[in-house]
Amino acid sequence: MPKLTRRAFGLVAGAAAANLAMPAYLRAQGKPRAVVVGGGAGGATAARYMAKDAGDELDVTLIEANPKYTTCFFSNLYLGDFRTFDSITHGYNTLQSNYGITLVNGFAEAIDRDANEVVMADGPRVPYDRLLVSPGIDFIWDSVPGYSEEASEIMPHSWKGGAQTKLLKSKLDAVEDGQQIVMVAPPNPFRCPPGPYERVSMFAHVLKAKGHTDSRIVIIDPKPTFSKQGLFEEGWEKHYPGMVEWYGPDVHGGIVGVDPSTGEVETDLDTFQGDLVNVIPAQKAGNIAHVAGLANETGFCPIDPHSMRSKMDDNIFVVGDACIPGDMPKSAFSANSQAKVAAMAIRGDLVGSRVFPAKYSNTCWSLIETDDGVKVGAQYVGTDEKISSTSKFISQTGEDAGTRKATYEESLGWYSGITSDIFGV
Ligand SMILES: Cc1cc2nc3c(=O)[nH]c(=O)nc-3n(C[C@H](O)[C@H](O)[C@H](O)COP(=O)(O)OP(=O)(O)OC[C@H]3O[C@@H](n4cnc5c(N)ncnc54)[C@H](O)[C@@H]3O)c2cc1C
Repeated sequence: MPKLTRRAFGLVAGAAAANLAMPAYLRAQGKPRAVVVGGGAGGATAARYMAKDAGDELDVTLIEANPKYTTCFFSNLYLGDFRTFDSITHGYNTLQSNYGITLVNGFAEAIDRDANEVVMADGPRVPYDRLLVSPGIDFIWDSVPGYSEEASEIMPHSWKGGAQTKLLKSKLDAVEDGQQIVMVAPPNPFRCPPGPYERVSMFAHVLKAKGHTDSRIVIIDPKPTFSKQGLFEEGWEKHYPGMVEWYGPDVHGGIVGVDPSTGEVETDLDTFQGDLVNVIPAQKAGNIAHVAGLANETGFCPIDPHSMRSKMDDNIFVVGDACIPGDMPKSAFSANSQAKVAAMAIRGDLVGSRVFPAKYSNTCWSLIETDDGVKVGAQYVGTDEKISSTSKFISQTGEDAGTRKATYEESLGWYSGITSDIFGV
């Protein structure tokens, strides 16, 4: 049962709609209301920045389906025994107690864009003057024939944090020497482009640490190339020789389907038998974005690159994996960066604060083996066409061990910093 406070629901929808005619910061009655759907990397950051920077001038409500949030970022390190599950799980208490954010713990079923209200699954409506939507991704289950939500209990995707993360870890720990892991990698665009390949590195790390000499990891990829490919392939050869095999579409010829009852992954080339099968299906914006008409034919949500404002509705902003991010990858770093731009724009709309030109940044770190970290990143600006990169960097093959260790240590600092930035201190 969601906890609904008087602050969140004590306002009449009709009056809210009428009030929109005048700038909210000039209104006599009550504070303007900023509402956020999704308490992950994008949504919780936006809620915190709006509450922190607008102080008492803005009423901020965060709607989140789950009581706790397990980060997908660093979940691969949990699989590799570099992190505990608790260390990647975060709550919302600080956002409530230190920033005065009203938390509505429940599932948003729809957005009534005419009334400017979020419709909760159990009935209540949350009125807003500006809404920020950051629901992450949902899966296109049948993008891999034979796969389904039910099948994910046997062949976990583990591409959303929580129970799936633990399920994949328990299956990984049960793999015996001589057994085979098969990963079906996702097509573009998907959350965390280097994520599948960092995950394979962590699979290999665990098998190697257990002394396996005959286990294999096969990646069936629908893409002809993948993020940081040279770095990962160099690392696999160096640390896990002969253990990892990657098959692109030129080799496997197409993914025919999976069979959860037998553990088989059938391709045009061959049928691969997995003792553990990790299927990461194609992705689209989180379902609420589709229900609300915020997504287009790509499955994701078009936004104004200068502000993250939805191209479908001036009162709504979309950040994170659900949006069409131009040159940016779908990552927590990107979602956090986009959320700050959107929070600034919403404060500009609602309390008249100054709005600066949009700047964004991203870095994605990946761990290949103990102390062997690599990274890729860029800076971006909003242009009329898209979010465009202005400068890029990437780790180099052949780097010395000291550089790689420093890169890994940088990622530890990033995780600590970004989770404080998202969930508050
Ligand atoms: C294995 C893996 C490794 C990764 N590693 C990295 C990394 O190293 N660095 C990096 O930057 N990124 C990484 N990522 C990507 C990162 O996790 C995502 O890009 C990021 O979480 C996106 O943030 P978001 O706010 O869009 O969505 P999310 O963080 O998924 O948050 C969405 C939230 O919305 C809630 N929600 C959705 N719909 C509703 C609704 N209708 N009502 C109420 N609540 C709702 C969900 O419960 C969830 O809490 C990784 C991802 C994976 C899978």
